[in-house]
Amino acid sequence: MADAATLYDTYARAPMRFERGEGVWLISESGERYLDFAAGVAVNSLGHAHPHLVETLKSQAEKLWHISNLYESPGQEKLARRLIDNTFADKVFFTNSGAEALECAIKTARRYHYAKGHPEKFHIITFEGAFHGRTIATIAAGGQQKYIDGFGPKAPGFDQVPFEDMNAVRDAISDATAGILLEPVQGEGGLRSFSKEFLREIRALCDERDLLLILDEVQCGVGRTGKLFAYEHAGITPDIMAVAKGIGGGFPVGACLATAEAASGMVAGTHGSTYGGNPLAMAVGAAVLDVVLADGFLQHVNDVALVFRQGLASLKDRFPEIIEDIRGTGLMIGIKTKIPNAELLTAMRGEKILAVLAGDNVVRLLPPLITTAEEAREGLARLEKAAEALSKR
Ligand code: PLP
Repeated sequence: MADAATLYDTYARAPMRFERGEGVWLISESGERYLDFAAGVAVNSLGHAHPHLVETLKSQAEKLWHISNLYESPGQEKLARRLIDNTFADKVFFTNSGAEALECAIKTARRYHYAKGHPEKFHIITFEGAFHGRTIATIAAGGQQKYIDGFGPKAPGFDQVPFEDMNAVRDAISDATAGILLEPVQGEGGLRSFSKEFLREIRALCDERDLLLILDEVQCGVGRTGKLFAYEHAGITPDIMAVAKGIGGGFPVGACLATAEAASGMVAGTHGSTYGGNPLAMAVGAAVLDVVLADGFLQHVNDVALVFRQGLASLKDRFPEIIEDIRGTGLMIGIKTKIPNAELLTAMRGEKILAVLAGDNVVRLLPPLITTAEEAREGLARLEKAAEALSKR
């Protein structure tokens, strides 16, 4: 018999059990239908059981699952080529998760300076509110004490500064600095977006001081903000970028993208992964891009984001005692609440709409990118009912 006590107690799981998914809907074991605007925390970019992804995975499963990185990989080469053709990058390393993509990004930045004769340059500047994963290095990069405590000394080489504080960034730069790491839109941190001006200044500063700009687009990438990658909004390009979540649409895939120059220290033997870039993952990643890069898809994301934005603005006006602010970009939406955010999330679950909590008392809406305007309106109506129930308490 299934028994939750058999599992590590690391997650505060909601007492809900889902059996299957259809587009933006999740269906519970008892047959209840939930509007899934959590999308596996920005992972199910094309919703559940998208026909193109299902077909691709099935047909790849009949051919080849795994070969390791001992041999050439046409699947990796094809997906890398498409990522390169659509971004700043010249080189790609495939991983299985976001944290691993960040690990590769951090190693790439350190090796760049090492290869240039500067092994002392291994520090990376990060920002308060960041979240970069749960490995030993990425908890140090994220800098949140609650994730660091109890796991031995914090990994060295991460210097954190307040959000968008350019003077603090300048002060933090030393002869040991290798690069600057940030999420263009902070996810876990509460849907805070770095301004275009700040990102441009950071880019210029990196150029001036020979620092590598590393972007974490694990959550905000792959169409989520209405551009393929969020850095495009600011008209800048990074040197290194970590991608995951949406690129696999639910299959575990991550990638570290870099310019040829930034990746120049990553020579044979410096990094590896048993599963990274396996044929199943590569087939699904390519299928996700077939959809996201199709003509008009990102326009669709922007159109639906507008429906959310307008609807949420009017809910904010109607329920000022519950909603303080609406934040985020595209379909990465934050509702900053005046009440504890968990209360709104619970009330939403009562109306059978799923969302995710974030820091700074925010409820995150991360609807699948295929959400239609009608489904968005359905979600807004459910959110309205949840807010009504809370305001009547
Ligand atoms: N970076 C960001 C911005 C994230 O949102 C996450 C996960 O939520 C990660 C990194 C870590 O990704 P993963 O959980 O796949 O290791």
